[in-house]
Amino acid sequence: LWRPRWRKPLGKAASPAFAMGERIKGRFAPSPSGRMHLGNVFCALIAWLSAKSAGGEMLLRIEDLDTARCKEEYTQMLLDDLRYLGLTFDEGEGVGGASAPYQQSKRTEYYEAVLARLRETGNVYPCFCSRDELHAASAPHATDGRVLYAGTCRSLTAEEIAEKSAIRSPALRLHTPDDTVAFDDRHFGRITGALQSEWGDFILRRSDGLFAYQLAVTADDAAMGVREVVRGRDLLSSTIPQLYLYRLLGVTPPQFAHVPLLLSADGRRLSKRDRDLDMGALRCRYKTPEPLIGKLLCLAGLLDREEALSAEEALSVFSWDRLRTEDIVVLPSVLS
Ligand code: GLU
Repeated sequence: LWRPRWRKPLGKAASPAFAMGERIKGRFAPSPSGRMHLGNVFCALIAWLSAKSAGGEMLLRIEDLDTARCKEEYTQMLLDDLRYLGLTFDEGEGVGGASAPYQQSKRTEYYEAVLARLRETGNVYPCFCSRDELHAASAPHATDGRVLYAGTCRSLTAEEIAEKSAIRSPALRLHTPDDTVAFDDRHFGRITGALQSEWGDFILRRSDGLFAYQLAVTADDAAMGVREVVRGRDLLSSTIPQLYLYRLLGVTPPQFAHVPLLLSADGRRLSKRDRDLDMGALRCRYKTPEPLIGKLLCLAGLLDREEALSAEEALSVFSWDRLRTEDIVVLPSVLS
């Protein structure tokens, strides 16, 4: 059942820069848990510019696994906001393509198949710990405060598993080795992470049956033939468990490129709660997207002076070398 589909580029000839190699396929993978905000727009724009300026394709995947937070109406708004911005997609939600469906909520069967494949490694085990037990037994994570799993359920016997299963349904965890994973991020350079000491035995499927982000995102990027992942640097460290999953699944990972975050004046990462910077408010202020795109590119270091330009026109100014690496503070006055 598990079959990553590597599709050869169809039809159009590859651009000269990629004539010898594979065609780039980038992606934007938003979660429809609210209206898109300026930070999401920035991510979508850079991902689009990177793939398109290299003669590649763009894919749109809706990451709506968290059914409690994601809503279909937000997906519809997202599609509309992307259209307004002039970000076109070659494949994905609203467009179709060979790897459909492109909504994660409709791909459960597929994740089951990937999970079955991971189980073959013998390192997937059920965990019955409650939230309280997890907190009590975990050592806090050294750098970012995340709690690490202490491995309590790692060596339960078959009898113990049967007994506990009768009472509660387990989460599924992956026993990670005491090993490091390294990769070259296109924008942030060499990144190294330790699986066991920084990630522990991470969750593949939650006890309520929802597949974890790490599993779903890796399975989908692999199955959809994504070759370039551009996303916010808040997900830089998540690349470590994802690369480990690629290794276990025997799939060549894509190139990763993380981008700086957009911060509010008080230093917080912009979120969907910053309503004054969501697409609803922004589209009231900007009837056309060109001045907004120009502003973002200027903040990102890609333009010296602010000018209005479309996503298509921005292709000629895009370069990874010019994109800044420091986070970008967005003062309310910047947008007025
Ligand atoms: N769905 C995630 C988000 O909206 C992004 C996942 C990814 O780009 O890997 O934050």
